[in-house]
Amino acid sequence: MVNFQRSRSDMVDRYKRGGYIQTKRMEEAVLTVPREEFMDPRFRDHAYIDRPFPIPGDGRQTISAPYMYPVSYEPLGFEPGMKVLEIGAGSGYGAALAKELVGDEGIVVAVEINKETHAFAKRNLKRAGYDVTLILGDGSMGYPKLAPYDVVSVTASTPDIPPPLLDQLKMGGRLIAPVGGRSLEGQDLLLIHKTEEGLTRRSLMKVVYVPLLGKYGFPE
Ligand code: SAH
Repeated sequence: MVNFQRSRSDMVDRYKRGGYIQTKRMEEAVLTVPREEFMDPRFRDHAYIDRPFPIPGDGRQTISAPYMYPVSYEPLGFEPGMKVLEIGAGSGYGAALAKELVGDEGIVVAVEINKETHAFAKRNLKRAGYDVTLILGDGSMGYPKLAPYDVVSVTASTPDIPPPLLDQLKMGGRLIAPVGGRSLEGQDLLLIHKTEEGLTRRSLMKVVYVPLLGKYGFPE
């Protein structure tokens, strides 16, 4: 039997040493979210291993490697009370972590395009007790109903940043997305800051994410 709590705190120590976790708020959030509740039951024991694992869907979905969350969330500057949009809910883990970071006054909206994956995320978030607005639909269109957002996090690779996501980002807001070629060709993890002077973009690292589908994603 794996001691999940122990594995989780070992992972947090590892990520602090590796520089992935930089703030106390992130440390506490990662220590709080039970990642095992977001794994496919077949891989539950591997919840704290540093790699992605398959989750229910059409064979293309994974729960991202756990370090990808602090890596992409630290530069987004989450604060309590913020409104966050996640595209590609997958397991629901990223949405749960975002909810920890924005707290009770914050709002997290997560969009998932695959029906089976959406149902999986819904079950996981409910079981783990996270109040997240989970939408079944094409997240490349964003979710205009609750816009604008302080933070947008895209967890599927896209040929370019979908324009609706930039429109739905608040002035001063930040967006992160893996931008580049399809799947194994790899992408640049781009951090976008929306300012009065325009958009600034910074490439944080090379990554490999599963493709974004839908209107502004890759053709099926
Ligand atoms: N953050 C997730 C990662 C999931 S992988 C996790 O760690 O669990 C990327 C997810 O994006 C997949 O579940 C895939 O079905 C979904 N996806 C792909 N294109 C999408 C789109 N246009 N809108 C919403 N979700 C999409």
